[in-house]
Amino acid sequence: MDIRQDVLERFLRYVKIDTQSADGIEDRYPSTEKQFDLLRLLVKELEALGLQEVELDEHGYVTASLPANLPPGTPAAADQVTVGLLAHVDTYHEVSGANVRPIVHEDYQGGPIALPGAADVVLTPEDNPDLAEHKADAIVTSDGTTLLGADDKAGVAEIMTLMALYRADPSRPHPRIRVAFTPDEEVGNGTRYFDVKKFAADVAYTQDGAGVGEVEDETFCADTAVVTFSGVDVHPGYAKDKMVNAVRLAADFITRFPHDALPETTEGYEDYLHPFQIQASVTEAKLTCLVRSFTEEGLAKMEAVLERIKAEVIETAPRAKIDVQIKASYRNMKQVLTDHPRVVEYAEDAMRAVGMEPKRLAIRGGTDGARLCFMGLPTPNLSAGGYNFHAVTEWVPVGAMVKAVEVLDALMKIWVERGRPR
Ligand SMILES: [Zn+2]
Repeated sequence: MDIRQDVLERFLRYVKIDTQSADGIEDRYPSTEKQFDLLRLLVKELEALGLQEVELDEHGYVTASLPANLPPGTPAAADQVTVGLLAHVDTYHEVSGANVRPIVHEDYQGGPIALPGAADVVLTPEDNPDLAEHKADAIVTSDGTTLLGADDKAGVAEIMTLMALYRADPSRPHPRIRVAFTPDEEVGNGTRYFDVKKFAADVAYTQDGAGVGEVEDETFCADTAVVTFSGVDVHPGYAKDKMVNAVRLAADFITRFPHDALPETTEGYEDYLHPFQIQASVTEAKLTCLVRSFTEEGLAKMEAVLERIKAEVIETAPRAKIDVQIKASYRNMKQVLTDHPRVVEYAEDAMRAVGMEPKRLAIRGGTDGARLCFMGLPTPNLSAGGYNFHAVTEWVPVGAMVKAVEVLDALMKIWVERGRPR
């Protein structure tokens, strides 16, 4: 089987289907009906590939099983694990994913890549130093007017190609595999109704990382703070010594944020507070703020900063009321993966087996895997090959998708050969 041709054809087929999710939708799941267009296609394709227990549930989760193929000399079935492979079908809600016209720039020789749909959108080597690593490969982009959707249709295509590979070559060893394609990841709800128990995998991988040869085993610990300011409204002409303006309270509050702990001033393992939404009137203002750190202690420190600022603002306006509510969002998956070191180590070994030096990274964000870890399924994130996620300049080298399939194939072989960790 020609892996390169298979993965590219699948990828081009999937990105042309609009699967954009929508933020802030509470009364339906998935957030957009059109995600079913791809989910239903995947059901058909999985069935055509001979997978078992192919299901699409009412929430939009596609799941399927591939029985193990255990060659002689590998540990018996009782000593094998079931490995889950997951990718999400939806694309980023803020940039259009409709009418995607993918362009395959064959035999890239360096230099800028112009995107014909938008005169001002150019992929330059200056902004994309990774381009240099992919000379002589084919680079896929959109026409510059939409997302490409490599996040995460590259991951979807790679998992499907792996399944096609096992069908084409029944001699390849692999454990029992559970596949899942999920909706609404981009709006933070990818696992909301995911039935981990029914999925019944022992370990899993999300195929949703950027670049090549990366294993992400750390995410932020994430909380959301909602700060409510209550003021006192009176006619402004007669407001002296009476009015307490919640608009000004909120403004004062925000300007007291530490300038070295903002998204725009931090990187690596640094924490931040991110005020990202505000609604305000004289009577009441509501500020929503992301709190991010890699540790629970870091979160507590950031939240103590909010309490300190609250006290400072109250001191300037004693009749004001300020209430800080903290909502937990997700936690660093490292807390779970530390107890399952082989899940990450085997992925690194698989990358070495196909000639890559793996990089272990911490994500300044969350993944579905982070939530799955805390639902009992250890799930690090692997590179799916794309770059510039969430932008009209998104691109993916075809060779990177091929490598990703080879990594998955090697990883499945390693799980079969080594069996259940004891
Ligand atoms: Zn993604």
